[in-house]
Amino acid sequence: MNVLVINAGSSSLKYQLFNMDNETILAKGLCERIGMENMVGHIKHTPLSTGKEPFVADIDLPSHAEAIAAVIEKLTDSEYGVIGSLSEIGAVGHRVLHGGQKFTASVLVDEQVKKAIEDCIPLGPLHNPANLMGINACEKVMPGVPQVAVFDTAFHQTMPKSSYLYAVPYKYYEEYSVRRYGFHGTSHRYVSARTIEALGVPAEGTKVITCHLGNGSSIAAVKDGKCFDTSMGLTPLEGLPMGTRCGSIDPAVVEFIANTEGISTSETLTMLNKKSGVLAVSGVSSDFRDINAAADNGNERAQLALDMFEYGILKYIGAYTAAMGGVDAITFTAGVGENDPDMRKRIMEKLAYMGVTVDEEANRQRGKFALISGPDSKIKVFVIPTDEELVIARDTLEIASK
Ligand code: AMP
Repeated sequence: MNVLVINAGSSSLKYQLFNMDNETILAKGLCERIGMENMVGHIKHTPLSTGKEPFVADIDLPSHAEAIAAVIEKLTDSEYGVIGSLSEIGAVGHRVLHGGQKFTASVLVDEQVKKAIEDCIPLGPLHNPANLMGINACEKVMPGVPQVAVFDTAFHQTMPKSSYLYAVPYKYYEEYSVRRYGFHGTSHRYVSARTIEALGVPAEGTKVITCHLGNGSSIAAVKDGKCFDTSMGLTPLEGLPMGTRCGSIDPAVVEFIANTEGISTSETLTMLNKKSGVLAVSGVSSDFRDINAAADNGNERAQLALDMFEYGILKYIGAYTAAMGGVDAITFTAGVGENDPDMRKRIMEKLAYMGVTVDEEANRQRGKFALISGPDSKIKVFVIPTDEELVIARDTLEIASK
């Protein structure tokens, strides 16, 4: 069966078409500037299975429905297509940001599921509306084709209450579901499962820490193969300092900055989401490659941004090791985790107190599965490339085949 995976953002839509008989990607692409006033939309479509050059064009994309229609047109195009007709798409899998407390696993989309995703809009105001638009657009263009929702929050629903509650009046949890949810769940689930597989033991009894370090970063403590705690919270703003997000700060900072600058809390939160993190500390960029280059050239604030990021990671590893009563393996994944050997090495060297040693040769690898701790290391450290789209496609195949 061919499965189309859709990741719809507010003005963008990423897609990959999988042939699930052999788990290969037939085509992938991106629509941008959807529904943006006075701006023409853009599509990049790469037909991987035919080896043709990508198709790139500016086209009118007033809404997600036109974007999905453009994707289908390209997938079935006589020159750039990879399938003969729409009927060759057996199911569609959608990445959905927030499933609240309702979804502990992926589900087949029906009217009730759509209503529940809508009910979670206050928890994911930027992403859930876009995710719904993607689902509605696919239903319109492909009526009758099963649609599956895969939630970023689902894997974290196994956290115990003591991990996910905030110490605020209990009624905010009871009445408004204010609590830690955690994100990047599809990635933590995939990478922790592969880590346990690599350890070659049953999930029961294992203690794993997964470090998803990219533009957005989060860390998860995974005990017995299930999420025990994670660094992101009610929204993806909590936890580590990220590309442009501040991570954990004293909540009193919000009112202090709002009052001092004469701006609203909502403007302050936009600043904490979009203009903070390593971008703000370094004053250079949100991209770790630029920050690394600046630090190498002696830029002190770029070095400080890297130091703060690493310090945050070390604190979470220490806290989660204590919380789980030990750790068997630590895994690095995502853009920075997979591609930055120097950062991994610096972190691992600081974990020498736990008996971690580095296999320098293995650690030089980028973007590939590798055991990067030394043979004498008390804790195994891995690099495992994440593949959220593949997990979405697998879940979709399984649910649509039932
Ligand atoms: P992601 O959000 O997982 O796609 O990760 C994107 C981020 O990975 C980029 O913003 C970069 O900061 C980082 N990244 C990618 N390649 C490298 C690299 N070779 N060295 C350091 N950081 C990298």
